[in-house]
Amino acid sequence: MDILPGSARCGLRGSQWSFVDFVTVKRWKFGLGSTLSSLVAAMGLVIVPMSASAEWYRFSDTAMTTPIELEFWAEDKELANRVGKEVLAVFHQVDEQMSRYRDQSEVSRLNRNAPDGPVEVSDGLFEVIEKAREVSLLSQGAFDITFGSVGYLYDFRAGKKPTDEELRSGLPRVNFRDVILDEDDQTVEYRQAGILVDLGGIAKGYAVDLGIERLVSFGIRHARLSAGGDMRLLGDKQGRPWYVGIRDPRSEGRNAVVLPLEDVAVSTSGDYERFFVDEAGERVHHILSPETGKSVQGVQSVTIIGEDALTTDGLSTAVFVLGPKKGLEMIERLKGIDVVVIDDQRMMHVSEGLVPPQSD
Ligand code: ADP
Ligand code: MG
Repeated sequence: MDILPGSARCGLRGSQWSFVDFVTVKRWKFGLGSTLSSLVAAMGLVIVPMSASAEWYRFSDTAMTTPIELEFWAEDKELANRVGKEVLAVFHQVDEQMSRYRDQSEVSRLNRNAPDGPVEVSDGLFEVIEKAREVSLLSQGAFDITFGSVGYLYDFRAGKKPTDEELRSGLPRVNFRDVILDEDDQTVEYRQAGILVDLGGIAKGYAVDLGIERLVSFGIRHARLSAGGDMRLLGDKQGRPWYVGIRDPRSEGRNAVVLPLEDVAVSTSGDYERFFVDEAGERVHHILSPETGKSVQGVQSVTIIGEDALTTDGLSTAVFVLGPKKGLEMIERLKGIDVVVIDDQRMMHVSEGLVPPQSD
């Protein structure tokens, strides 16, 4: 496990920490009581299985162009297999419903028809678009699901980016305010032709929440479910917290920080997921400023901790676009949400709910 409690060295400067390889962080809001010694003690706990097949079950898959990982405690193998199958199926369902790569997805149909008038949508799609709007308003447009008309001009695999002129012609159609929601009729309408809604910055969080709901409906009480950078934890890991590593954005397999957490959602947005380096040496990546249509500079990764993954997913992208200063200001105003930003100088900026371990 990537946790070295003994080596925790942490230069705390206001809400900035100098970048260290391994550090444990206490999120006191959850009352985990995670002083280093109690962490170590808890790690030594031995769990006695309650029945022959009571154990941690693990499943994995690929959906929504991302790896899905599921781990949970169940008392019975047959039940565990059924639960695993049903939870993984959720991600394929949401993929079919919300992918912009699928011609027949509900989102693609919306993009075709909503400029012509209100389109009635499913509960799930309405919920996601409504949350997206909330995050857009909170972040003053930094988060914007209509980024598609500039976003689709990029091809990260082929190392292709749009010219300034192409961006200029796409930008007038980037505006979340042109997506009109009617709560009573549960409809969505676009105020202009050519709007392209893309839920890539928020749909995985939605799917993770649905997966967790499914686990709970089966009576599962301890689980970890992730879709790429979006994760949610159910309960603790029987007697001790889950240890969630925030990876070093410039070194796969190394953690920048490890957080002991339980019963929360955690989402990370990074500039290392899909990117190439252009001829000027600038990193061109998948998180775009709705104002300029260009990849946001100044941040390497943003991790949000909160109650549900729909919210943390949207907010992690939003804070990435806002940058450390404005991003932290926004998060400090929200109850029950915390953030860790790693900037391009590899400094960590953390919100007030997160405090470093006692230096002992
Ligand atoms: P990941 O997809 O790697 O988990 P994010 O949750 O940060 O990371 O989402 C990044 C995705 O969000 C991009 O691939 C794109 O689909 C979408 N996106 C990019 N910029 C924005 C933006 N300003 N507002 C909303 N969505 C965005
Ligand atoms: Mg996101």
